[in-house]
Amino acid sequence: MDAQQVRAYFDFAKVRSGLLDVTGRLFGLEYVPIDDAAVWHEDVAAYDVRADGAVLGRIYLDLHPRDGKFKHAAQFGLVSGIAGRQLPEGALVCNFPRGLMEHRDVVTMFHEFGHLVHHVLAGKQAWARFSGVTTEWDFVEAPSQLLEEWAWNADVLRTFATDADGAAIPAALVAKMRAADEFGKGYLARTQMFYAAVSYWLHQNRAGDLTDRVRELQDKYDLFPFMEGSHFHASFGHLTSYASAYYTYMWSLVIAKDLFSAFDPDDLLAADVATRYRDTVLAQGGSKDAADLVTDFLGRPYNADGFRRWLASTGKRTS
Ligand SMILES: [Zn+2]
Repeated sequence: MDAQQVRAYFDFAKVRSGLLDVTGRLFGLEYVPIDDAAVWHEDVAAYDVRADGAVLGRIYLDLHPRDGKFKHAAQFGLVSGIAGRQLPEGALVCNFPRGLMEHRDVVTMFHEFGHLVHHVLAGKQAWARFSGVTTEWDFVEAPSQLLEEWAWNADVLRTFATDADGAAIPAALVAKMRAADEFGKGYLARTQMFYAAVSYWLHQNRAGDLTDRVRELQDKYDLFPFMEGSHFHASFGHLTSYASAYYTYMWSLVIAKDLFSAFDPDDLLAADVATRYRDTVLAQGGSKDAADLVTDFLGRPYNADGFRRWLASTGKRTS
């Protein structure tokens, strides 16, 4: 698969408006540009988010790199919504090129927008403590990882991913992109398990030699053996930021795959299931335990079946 060929279909302006169209259709939202909003740089686009004629909140998209700017991609809550008192405001701060984008960037844009739309839709809580993305830490990535699925779906991509001549991205090319993405996922899953085990065990019990413990855990979880003389944990930055909870990356993915099992992959723009997801999960913010949000949406407790199916699939589906 040729990344240059793929890039021809992802012009930034079309991707941005496509993302707004797709999420607008899914969640019944309208994004109204606010040209005179107070913004911190001329690159920043502000929109009011409306549903059924009422303003739900405001979003700011600051999507291109510039000197001195944050170098990663993230969503930042600016104002927490409180019912009857204040509307939520949030910003996406990312570093995407102004012209053609890598598909990986498109996936990142959908991911981060998943956090932003969660922040806005959950803006009608009684207290800021439960407003927006204030769920448990091991759930907060699930809505954003879920929205990534839309960036891998040929029917969805066809709605906005067109080349300079206006031709939509071929389904066969999306199938190849998916197959390439799926390559090595078993290895990646095992490596994530290894990292999660290191993060957990080194905080749970630090007795003895750390390198010996890491060697044991690598032999148990990872595909590749421990490399003599290495001390991986000494530069594993997540040990201080995520502490014992590195597992949340993979656990959120387990939940995201479970949530995705309720959607029809052949009709990802169907409004009924998306509306139910909006109301039972996103709009609730942190006001309920995440396990209850998932049960309310799926009609059953969470499980790992969707994750297992994904792990075992060959990735050759065309949708
Ligand atoms: Zn995220």
